[in-house]
Amino acid sequence: MRAEVSEPRVERWRAVAAAAGLLDADGTTRPTIFAEMTALAARTGAINLGQGFPDADGPAWVREAAVEAIRGGVNQYPPGRGVPELRRAVADHQARHHGMSLDPATEVLVTAGATEALTAAVLALAGPGDEVLTLEPFYDSHAAAVALAGATHTTVPLVRGPEGFRLDVTALANAVSPRTRVILLNSPHNPTGAVLTRAELEALAAAAVRADAVVVTDEVYEHLVYDDAAHVPIATLPGMAERTITISSAGKTFSLTGWKIGWATGPAHLVEAVLAVKQFLTYSGGAPFQPAIARALERGDADVAALRDSLAQRRDLLVAGLEDAGLAAVRPEGTYFVCADASALLTPDLPDGAALARALPAAVGVASIPVSAFCRAGSPTASAVAPLLRFTFSKDRSTLEEALRRLRTLR
Ligand SMILES: *Cc1c(COP(=O)(O)O)cnc(C)c1O
Repeated sequence: MRAEVSEPRVERWRAVAAAAGLLDADGTTRPTIFAEMTALAARTGAINLGQGFPDADGPAWVREAAVEAIRGGVNQYPPGRGVPELRRAVADHQARHHGMSLDPATEVLVTAGATEALTAAVLALAGPGDEVLTLEPFYDSHAAAVALAGATHTTVPLVRGPEGFRLDVTALANAVSPRTRVILLNSPHNPTGAVLTRAELEALAAAAVRADAVVVTDEVYEHLVYDDAAHVPIATLPGMAERTITISSAGKTFSLTGWKIGWATGPAHLVEAVLAVKQFLTYSGGAPFQPAIARALERGDADVAALRDSLAQRRDLLVAGLEDAGLAAVRPEGTYFVCADASALLTPDLPDGAALARALPAAVGVASIPVSAFCRAGSPTASAVAPLLRFTFSKDRSTLEEALRRLRTLR
């Protein structure tokens, strides 16, 4: 007897897949563009500048601290809110770097990476009939979280101009409605590399107050900001601490993306809401990594500064090399990524960034991600960024140099 569950009983997940752009018109699913490009890079021997994880692991002394913790018996469930020393270190970090004042007992929550904090926050605060506003382009998990919540996803564009990608403040006024429950931000921004200015943050803050919305802000690249750009947490704007959940993690800051130690900070009642969902997703995790990250936050400023300087140099190398190859790079103010306009390389056979990104690994041996993958299918922003490709500079210098040598053959 066949005992398969019938399809309509198991299709709830399709809403999430559709929001993440993974459903074809005929209802079949495909892998994410990240998985597709990584597989293509492996198959063709291409250098993978698509997925943004570092070549080099984070500081040895931080990794040693986790080894010590495992040897020392830190191997059972940590508390649901996180170990006290890490919550204290996060509160101290927010005070030292951003002037925020937080009670580690009630206003800090440790999570399984920033991703869990983001998804738990959206699930806690938005549901069917509610709108969640994000920037567009957006990080893929932001759209998936809104879909999991059954909420409606609305967006405000970041528009490319002489000053890089900037918030369309006029569009913001129309994008926010009384049904907007959450404004889900990300700055420094993946994929564009934009760091929102104080004026842009003030516009977003005013919109949040007008709509009586909670701001959830993804600040995982808070320390990876270059030149004169300054990262301003929106929670530090007047009146915003009360309505903001600030999220970050150790992954990008310490080049330890596989450890998945993240945190959410904010007023106790909002942290409580995130906790209510989080405790039934993972409850807790990463026991030996938590004390190691506490030490990294307390004593790792020099390592973070060295990483930032090294990334700034690799950004310069990649930006200059892409220009040389005929790709017009938009100089990023932060993050791991450069977006570059490939218009000069497009042909009737390769009419947009998505087609070019799929052709480049076999043609020249370099993988990238089309920026349209970070947009809603068919949106005006998706059209605006259609010729753009995203490349990461979180790789070794020699890897970047070889990728650029290969890309120069395009000319
Ligand atoms: C990498 C990344 C994350 C994921 O953070 P984790 O701590 O690994 O969960 C979240 N947001 C953005 C914008 C990212 O680039």
